[in-house]
Amino acid sequence: MEIRFDGKKALVTGAGKGIGRDVAKTMYKCGAEVFALSRTQEDLDSLVQECPGIHPVQCDLADPEATKSAVESVGPIDLLVNNAGVTSLQPFLEVTLDAFEKVMNINVRAVMQVSQIVAKGMVERGTGGSIVNVSSLASKSALKEHTSYCTSKGALDIMSKVMALELGPHKIRVNTVNPTVVMTDMGQKVWGSDPAKSGPMLARIPLGKFVEVEDVVHAILFLLSDKAAMMTGTNLPVEGGFSAT
Ligand code: NDP
Repeated sequence: MEIRFDGKKALVTGAGKGIGRDVAKTMYKCGAEVFALSRTQEDLDSLVQECPGIHPVQCDLADPEATKSAVESVGPIDLLVNNAGVTSLQPFLEVTLDAFEKVMNINVRAVMQVSQIVAKGMVERGTGGSIVNVSSLASKSALKEHTSYCTSKGALDIMSKVMALELGPHKIRVNTVNPTVVMTDMGQKVWGSDPAKSGPMLARIPLGKFVEVEDVVHAILFLLSDKAAMMTGTNLPVEGGFSAT
């Protein structure tokens, strides 16, 4: 099953590191014109060195004004991957309003804002499109010290379903991927340094390993592509069977 995106314009957020970086590179290899949005300029510089055809867009999604002008500047988009995400680990009784707001702003508010701008263009052009929001298994399964993160990903799942409902008549599909632990910078920070945390998590995965970045990239590309033409409003688990246990 070959997936090609020739003639399509794609925007990937959080494309400087981890999952988003590999999504941007793979979509580029599959023929898309790729706009890679991220916060750290050096990450974008090294991405462009690797793939000289990718267009870098430096933007902090925490800033709504900067986000508006950055996303509007890229022009019409056919394929959107809202991948940028952050986490903050605090026991429930110690969750600060500041940390909660920061996580919600990137993981939920920015996804809504970026998607609104992109989807309005899709509706106006009448061309349809496909949006994948990178959620997490943490939207479905409570994890200790993950109040802000679990809440944000739960909100992201249901927001994606509302988007699917309202945008479907405009031929715009909206889905999420929901991975368990991936050992990116974020995964290392949360799970990598502490076997007492990662061990029980791993033990609950029937396939006996954590998710590779490539596994998530493949799921995202499938959902973006016409191979998933009748899929919208879904939350696709990428978790080695965790939810089956
Ligand atoms: P990384 O931390 O490795 O990469 C995240 C990327 O998003 C970085 O390039 C980062 O840029 C960018 N980003 C973060 N905040 C902003 C912002 N305010 N503005 C612009 N860009 C921003 O994370 P992952 O690749 O692991 O995660 C990608 C997605 O996958 C996230 O939504 C995450 O919640 C989700 N996920 C991750 C899992 C895991 O175990 N790793 C499991 C399940 C889901 P910078 O470094 O410059 O801040």
